[in-house]
Order: sequence, then structure tokens, then C-alpha cells
Amino acid sequence: MAQTSDLVCVTGASGFIATQLVKALLEGGYRVRGTVRDPKKADVLRGLDGAKDRLELVAADLLDADSMQKAIAGTHVVMHTASPYVITVKDPQRDLVDPALKGTEHALAACRAAGVKRVVLTSSCAAITDAPDGRVLTEADWNEKSSLTRNPYYYSKTVAERAAWAFVEKEKPSFDLVTINPALVIGPSLIRALNPSSGVIADLLNGKQPAVVRLEWGIVDVRDVAKAHILAMETASAKGRYICTAGMLDMSSLVATLKKHGLGKGKLPKLSLASPVGDVVAKIFSYTQPKGIGQYVRTNVGGKLIYDNQKIVRELAMRFRAIEESIVETAADLAKWGHVEARAA
Ligand code: NDP
Repeated sequence: MAQTSDLVCVTGASGFIATQLVKALLEGGYRVRGTVRDPKKADVLRGLDGAKDRLELVAADLLDADSMQKAIAGTHVVMHTASPYVITVKDPQRDLVDPALKGTEHALAACRAAGVKRVVLTSSCAAITDAPDGRVLTEADWNEKSSLTRNPYYYSKTVAERAAWAFVEKEKPSFDLVTINPALVIGPSLIRALNPSSGVIADLLNGKQPAVVRLEWGIVDVRDVAKAHILAMETASAKGRYICTAGMLDMSSLVATLKKHGLGKGKLPKLSLASPVGDVVAKIFSYTQPKGIGQYVRTNVGGKLIYDNQKIVRELAMRFRAIEESIVETAADLAKWGHVEARAA
């Protein structure tokens, strides 16, 4: 499918996932064009191996169709990762849905105009569900519950992915579309900014979680998310959506893993509320949290979350790093960037 002579556009190249993606693409010998909003954030990209000869950086904003058009013109494959990943916002329409949805529409229109052959869209497990209910969730599942007032980040990812599929259905463009739907992404970061997903581990190591409650996540390492995007580009037969998770992890197991490795000394929650009564307590406590976090807790606590990752394993030959290894490396990386005390990690 893709050849190293191809020019691969990565939107939002300065992000947590995208920086690892650009690094992996350059390591794979590809030529890369990254879009960035803030040139100051591009330094890390310029320092990557291969960047001098094979990386160009251009300015683009999701809401500015012209800038997206210019950024994508002349490229062969587009990896559209840019989208705001913020859980609590002032104005969900303006801060989340507009950039996610319009950004996707602008990117796909630009891909059509450029005659791109494949688009790999970074969607999310947020577009699969926002309320685990014990069913085994596959790529056939869609989040039908989120809205502007309920888990709006999840809503933004769902409407953006739906719009992408609708675009392909209606416009029959030159490209085929493949989506990667990562679960909670952790692992070493090339940038200082603390991503909300690694923030889950930072909060535990910083003693910000008073108790263990019944919350579960699909977990995937950021380097594996990058790898999944590249496999989706290189595998000619790749088709449809791909849930991207190494497996499932509940909060009790996460805390046990940190403890086992001597991490978060004295800061990890000692109280366990991992019970139906604890779910009620967690829901009451959730009203003291920032709005987006509170909603997430109320819709997720006590729910059994199960993602089936077999499609990506079978069709893209994806192999995931062990979750335990990612957790330990995340803790060390959080200390390196000063997000947790070095002693805690
Ligand atoms: P980041 O916040 O690090 O990356 C988001 C990227 O989107 C940044 O590069 C940001 O640019 C860019 N962006 C946001 N708004 C705009 C805009 N208006 N115009 C141009 N660029 C914009 O988060 P992640 O790396 O985690 O997220 C990357 C993608 O992965 C997102 O689509 C997210 O929804 C998805 N995802 C993330 C998961 C996770 O657990 N982290 C899980 C599942 C999916 P800037 O650097 O200038 O702010």
C-alpha cells in the first residue's frame, strides 16, 4: 500500500500521540509533513532522527479550511490525529465539537482534492462507548449516549468519526478510510505537556486519589498507537475501524502494579471503595470534581468495560506491549517531566 517514497501528512504533529507517530514514521524511512499550530512546539520534531532530510512542518488550524488544504496538498497518505483532547471545557460546542467535526470535514475535503490514497483517522474508544455495561464491545459498537451535556469529549470524537464515514459513503473519494480507535493511551511522552490519559497515573502517584473505586480502562502504549497507525497505512487490506487496546485494567490492578514496583510510595490510595456501596460514594464525590471528570465517573463507575481487540491483532498483525511494562515506563517518564516527584516514581 504505502511506500517510503510517499509523503505522509500527520495533522496535529506536536501532540502526545502524533510526536511518537512522526518519530516512528521517520524511523520507518517515510517522508513526513506535520501540521502544527504553534511553531514553538515544533522543536521536538525538528530534533528527531531523520527530521533534517525528511520532515517538513507547516502551520494549519482545524477550523481554517484553507490552511488544511495547503497542508495536505501533494501528500499521499494522511494521518488525521489533530482534535482537542480535553475533558472539562467551558463551551463544548466551541471547544470540542467544532474543531473535531469541522477539522475532520476540512481534512477529508482536502484529502479528496489532493487525491490522497488512504486516510488513517485517529478516532477513539470514546466513539465506541461512554458507559460500560458488561457487554464485549467490538468495532460494531457506537457510542450513542454522549451529547454536548454528557461526556462532550466523547461526543466530539463520535460525531467526528461518524462524519468521516458519512463523507466516504457520500463522496466516494479517491482514498479509503481506516480508523484507529485507541483506548486510554499511556507511555513515554516526547513532549512536556501532561496528557489527561497519563494524568490518571500521575494523580495516583501524587496522592490525588483518596480511594480505589470500580473504574476500568482499556490501556494502550503510545508507541503501539503509533505502530497501529503505520500498520493501518501499510496493510493494503486494512478496512474499517480498529479498536486499539493492549487489554483491560481496573483501578485496583493499576494500584497493585504501581505498588508491586515500589512506585507512589505512601501516596497510593489505601482505602478501597471497590464495591456497589463504593460506587454510590464515588458518584457523590464526583460532584466535587471538575465537570468533565465528574460526568465520566458517574457514567463509568461500577460498569464492566470489555473491549475486543482481536480485529487489529488478526487483520493488521498488531502485537501490543505488556500493560505492566507501559505502566512502569509511564511512571518513570512522569517523573522525568516533573509531573510527579522523582521519589514517587
Ligand atoms: P494532544 O492534546 O497531545 O494532541 C491533540 C493535538 O490536536 C495537538 O497537536 C493539538 O495541537 C491538536 N489540535 C487541537 N485543536 C486544534 C486546532 N483547532 N487546530 C489544529 N490542531 C489542533 O492529545 P493526544 O495526542 O492524546 O490526542 C491525539 C488524538 O488521539 C486526538 O484525536 C485524541 O482524541 C485521540 N485519542 C487520544 C487518546 C488518549 O488517551 N490520549 C485516546 C484515544 C484517542 P496543539 O499541540 O497546538 O495544541
